[in-house]
Amino acid sequence: MINLGYFIFTKSEYMTTIKNRDWNATRSAEVYGINRWGAEYFGICDDGNVVINTIIDGKKVSVSVPEIVEGMKARGFEMPVLLRIENILDHRLRLINESFRNAIDQLNYQNIYRGVFPIKVNQQRHVVEEIVNFGRQYHHGLEAGSKAELMVALASSPDNERYIVCNGYKDDEFVELGLRAIQLGWRCFFVLETLSELDVILRCSERLGVLPILGVRVKLSTTVDGHWQADSGDRSIFGLNSIQLVGVIERLKLTNQLDCLQMLHFHLGSQIPNIQNIRQGVQEACRYYISLKNEGAKMGHLDLGGGLAVDYEGTAKCDTYSKNYSLDEYCVDIIEAVMETLDPQCIEHPVLMTESGRFTVAHASLFLFDILEVSNFEPVNNLMLGDKACDTKLKNLIDVLEIVGIENVQECYNDAIFYRDEIRRKFNLGQIDLRERAVAENLFLSIMKKIQLIDKQELPEELNRLNEEMADIYYGNFSVFQSLPDTWAIGQVFPVMPIHRLNEKPEREAMIADLTCDCDGKLDNFIGGLKTIPLHELNDGEDYHLCAFLVGAYQETLSDLHNLFGDSNVVSIRITGEDEFSFVREIHGDSISDVLSFVEYDPRILQEKFRDTVECAVRDGKITVANRREILKTFEEGMRGYTYYENLS
Ligand SMILES: *Cc1c(COP(=O)(O)O)cnc(C)c1O
Repeated sequence: MINLGYFIFTKSEYMTTIKNRDWNATRSAEVYGINRWGAEYFGICDDGNVVINTIIDGKKVSVSVPEIVEGMKARGFEMPVLLRIENILDHRLRLINESFRNAIDQLNYQNIYRGVFPIKVNQQRHVVEEIVNFGRQYHHGLEAGSKAELMVALASSPDNERYIVCNGYKDDEFVELGLRAIQLGWRCFFVLETLSELDVILRCSERLGVLPILGVRVKLSTTVDGHWQADSGDRSIFGLNSIQLVGVIERLKLTNQLDCLQMLHFHLGSQIPNIQNIRQGVQEACRYYISLKNEGAKMGHLDLGGGLAVDYEGTAKCDTYSKNYSLDEYCVDIIEAVMETLDPQCIEHPVLMTESGRFTVAHASLFLFDILEVSNFEPVNNLMLGDKACDTKLKNLIDVLEIVGIENVQECYNDAIFYRDEIRRKFNLGQIDLRERAVAENLFLSIMKKIQLIDKQELPEELNRLNEEMADIYYGNFSVFQSLPDTWAIGQVFPVMPIHRLNEKPEREAMIADLTCDCDGKLDNFIGGLKTIPLHELNDGEDYHLCAFLVGAYQETLSDLHNLFGDSNVVSIRITGEDEFSFVREIHGDSISDVLSFVEYDPRILQEKFRDTVECAVRDGKITVANRREILKTFEEGMRGYTYYENLS
């Protein structure tokens, strides 16, 4: 018998080589970049827990995220949970309004800023209500891209100063609602996206005897960097070109209604990482603004749409999920660009508007989930070959394992792959058995492990990816498709990290898989283009909680029911002082019966059918009547349960 365990590293042997005695929270902060993307809302405390910071009565206070999690669990909200922080949402609204106000004062701009929140970015009632309530002091309005969103806007408490901006395709019903809103005293703009819309609006307006407030969305030739590059410029789906704009003016002149045209609107795309694009866009838009004014339109409003980016990676660079400008810079640059273009023409400064969605809501939501288990690519230590002669390819692998070192690493790596593949080939031809193959694979893993111990700087470039290839798979209790759909759909990067144990060194490299049975159901796109992140080894009997940050924009309603994983639990908190917070709103996630009814099953009928099957089993003597009772109880309780992994023990 050959015991190959002798050759193989014991786990503790290599663990000690990378063990770190003086790890601390500061080093974790560096590893995960939390002080760069956290925008001061998030940080790590000395005890190794993630904290949420906010300012109350001029004083900075912090609340520990693991403590919030404890509070949630005590209230019956199990993982995964979407956690909203109202203080952060309020702070974002304050930031954007005050930053524009400061820039206006600083540059002596002769008009005001009025923001509107685009409902599509987060339609959830709690979020929109908080924006309306806190935003009241700034008359922060709403942007609606559909009839349903307009109805949400109209059902919020009225405020004559607040704007409603209607984008998107508009039919008669949409238009009628908007005109009624004007009658009720709302400042409700229709932004023309196509020429035909104007006819619908004017027809409706005549019928109801209400004059519309019109804006035109122009198609700029400025293109933007980032994910939506291909959709910017001439090929953008929305907006009027110069030819169509002339058409709009002619049509309005005909009925003497040029006064209705009061806004120029453009939207270059979301998450614009490059401030130069924004400046250029504003300049181009201002040319259109001047031209419309010269044509006799009333104008008075310039709406710059969305695009104000979030620095998900915390690198402050012109990369898709970062941005190369600050909020203050954004405001100042826009105002400068407007003044530079309009002042020489002696055109009055318009009300400046933005429809900043992502910026407003991204930071205010965190997605918390736990890790259920880990699978790794560690060699095992006691694999026996049994009473067999050792295949020569196996002997070769043993030799490689013995000699591999810095001097011959590339050669050994190549050999290991070659011999392993030879073994696999022989296995496929039936020339070696399962045990031999297992031993070979195990030797191969041992060789890779030994290579990984070599200082990364010393490794040839090809082997740099070894960490990725050997990375652990951490199984998370969540669905990417339900909770972080953009990571799957557009490769979006969100900062992900543990919320505790941050004064311990994270010794494992991992990618994260979700609960769906889909190869795409994983997180393997992390800050810096990395496919893996460092995580801690799981401790027996202890929860390990991870968090995806900055998930407040776009994730909740773009999500889907893949594998019938439903909405997660949602909890909103308000921080009230140091280590003090209250749970202000809570929603239980979908139950299994909820998600089944979304796909046209009637849970009652399902139960009846299942009961018939169980009753048959009683009749056939497969189970007892007492069994029947238990089985039906399990089924019924399951229907009411959470769609995610529940630890009921
Ligand atoms: C999506 C959208 C926005 C929001 O963009 P953000 O980049 O999230 O701020 C604003 N305006 C229009 C017209 C949009 O379609």
